[in-house]
Amino acid sequence: MTQPEKTAYALEELLESNKKWAGTMVAKESEFFKKLEAQQSPQYLWIGCSDSRVPASELLGLAPGELFVHRNIANVVVHSDLNCLSVLQFAIDVLKVKHVMIVGHYGCSGVHAAMTGKRIGLADNWLRHVQDVHQKHERYLGDVLNSQERQNRLCEINVMEQVVNVCQTTIVQDAWERGQPLSVHGWVYGLKDGLLHDLKMTVTSPDELAPRMATCLGRYEDEA
Ligand code: ZN
Repeated sequence: MTQPEKTAYALEELLESNKKWAGTMVAKESEFFKKLEAQQSPQYLWIGCSDSRVPASELLGLAPGELFVHRNIANVVVHSDLNCLSVLQFAIDVLKVKHVMIVGHYGCSGVHAAMTGKRIGLADNWLRHVQDVHQKHERYLGDVLNSQERQNRLCEINVMEQVVNVCQTTIVQDAWERGQPLSVHGWVYGLKDGLLHDLKMTVTSPDELAPRMATCLGRYEDEA
């Protein structure tokens, strides 16, 4: 069998699998897709890594319609990224989500490449944002830690910095200003055990941001 035929066969299987899934959903609840079509009202916005091993809705046990999602390499929130900002704006202003979670994961190839300076292509320019985080926090990521621990810690600190970036957007600042209830959280996912860890970087108002970050980084200082 030639390569293109093989690919076509695999795609047919995917479409078959989709049919089965849709059938199962309807078997469970006959009006499921009708309801979904009429309305989406998620309470959560997930900003995570594109990594295929971190399936957002699945690992939270949420059904379609319950989670609004944005993903990119190494879960980075850049102040001028119109794609991510548009998702954030729609989620907060239109869908009125109550929680935004930035979710990193241990073993992130993007974070690893940023830490080691390994070249992977165009994405090097994107990962420059993670390298900036690395440089900013070199004090905590110094020689004391072995390479694995340093990488894990950079995954965590990268999440915390992205929580800061989300909180500093005009979108979140304006929502808080008008009294809209909104919490921003920092989580990290373990590929080894499938568990999410709360980094205790939850921010619910502008005043909380700086002290929360200081407390979270202070944890590392105490350990050093
Ligand atoms: Zn990743």
